[in-house]
Amino acid sequence: MIRTRQLAYRYPKGPALAFPDVDVPQGGVLLLAGPSGSGKSTWLALAAGLVGATAGQIDVAGQSLGADGTALKQGAALDAWRARTIGFLPQRLHLSTALTVHDNLAMAQWAAGQAQNDKLITEALEALGVQDLALRKPAQLSGGQAQRVALARAVLLQPQVILADEPTASLDDEAAAASLALLQSTARWEGATLVIATHDARVARFFAENPSKKGLLRIVLGRKKL
Ligand code: ADP
Ligand code: ADP
Repeated sequence: MIRTRQLAYRYPKGPALAFPDVDVPQGGVLLLAGPSGSGKSTWLALAAGLVGATAGQIDVAGQSLGADGTALKQGAALDAWRARTIGFLPQRLHLSTALTVHDNLAMAQWAAGQAQNDKLITEALEALGVQDLALRKPAQLSGGQAQRVALARAVLLQPQVILADEPTASLDDEAAAASLALLQSTARWEGATLVIATHDARVARFFAENPSKKGLLRIVLGRKKL
């Protein structure tokens, strides 16, 4: 489902990052560990096709996004692939403050080039238990509710891969465990592969105590230099 070989990215005016090889099966969990600045966000951006690898290979859900990949070089095709393949849970949730919860999800459908589908929006909100909040604005949500809404948005288009960037950052232990349980169960319902970028030791502990059926892979970034 996700396979990398000698994946590397060199920022034009910044560091060169080299990543360990991974093979993550469909439904598996990958933890990207490593300190701040070790390349976790860069790896997520590579897996989403937001930036192109400068060397090596990365295949995600059957698409080659690597340095020598020929598929999806066109912006529009790549955007359409990302919209139907990747569900992204950003660290700062990026909910539009001016829009209701419902309209935040509708905007994700428009952005993916789809017609607004209220039935799918309601189903996604129900799956995360936040259907009663549909008409609220983000400012009227608690932190946990906002994360559920962002996760509903991430899974709205039934992605094959869920990418979560520091989903436990600034959460207390109870909220962090709830966030991880939610991500794990959501990925399981969807049959999606889950990638979590984190430098939080509680995340590895959570998955050790709550193993994923399709296996867990943990790689530590920042140890390998080009
Ligand atoms: P992490 O997510 O683990 O904190 P990042 O992927 O954000 O790490 O960053 C990896 C390294 O690349 C860091 O040294 C960072 O300073 C550098 N970096 C990130 N974005 C850019 C950029 N746009 N230009 C130059 N260097 C960057
Ligand atoms: P920060 O980590 O500074 O809070 P964000 O949470 O906005 O920044 O984004 C984290 C990383 O995820 C960024 O490096 C960005 O390139 C990447 N990213 C942003 N949007 C998407 C997306 N739709 N799909 C996959 N990755 C994304």
